[in-house]
Amino acid sequence: MKLLDIHTHSTANNFAIFNLETSSPQRSPDYFSTGFHPWNLNENWQENFDKLEALAQNERCMAIGEAGFDRIWGPDISVQKAAFKAQAKLAIALGIPLILHLVKSHDLLLEYFKSEKETPSIICHGFNLKPHLATQLLPFPVYFSFGKALKQKESHAIAWLKDCPSERFFFETDDSKEPIDSIFNTASVILGRPEEVLSEQVLSNWNKISKRKIYE
Ligand SMILES: [Zn+2]
Repeated sequence: MKLLDIHTHSTANNFAIFNLETSSPQRSPDYFSTGFHPWNLNENWQENFDKLEALAQNERCMAIGEAGFDRIWGPDISVQKAAFKAQAKLAIALGIPLILHLVKSHDLLLEYFKSEKETPSIICHGFNLKPHLATQLLPFPVYFSFGKALKQKESHAIAWLKDCPSERFFFETDDSKEPIDSIFNTASVILGRPEEVLSEQVLSNWNKISKRKIYE
């Protein structure tokens, strides 16, 4: 049984989507995602868009991102919105999901979905928002990736995992030292479902939303 890690900054595990910096691509494991993180954005982001498009052509590029909105760090929201829309368009063109970074900007995500006719599947990574905010996103092609917050007592992540439709969840390590096995194990205890079942569910979820398939 292989446990897919949907988002990681570590190269230790090959069955994982490694977050590759567009500006300084390094050798990546089997799968990667790449995009402009809001923290690294500036007004000249368009100058590097060719680089992103070229990297994304690689069949091992499974998703665009992290991309998204951040009201604490990052440039003016107008710059973030423009860069996000361009990256979302690229994800649509390639038929792959976008991995989302979202900080204090839930409203901007809703605004995006309500204003666009066509959107990619969007995976909210490191999900730990209140369940009622997650519920507001269910009418849209939004997926939720759970990580280390599942280890914190009474976290929003735990509350939402219990209610989240199975077709919408993924698991990740992000920048934590916690191995993916341990995240799946915790989720398995919370949901009362075997890890094998969660593993199959995650792969099936992935293959439904992406043209670039992942098999065990
Ligand atoms: Zn990350």
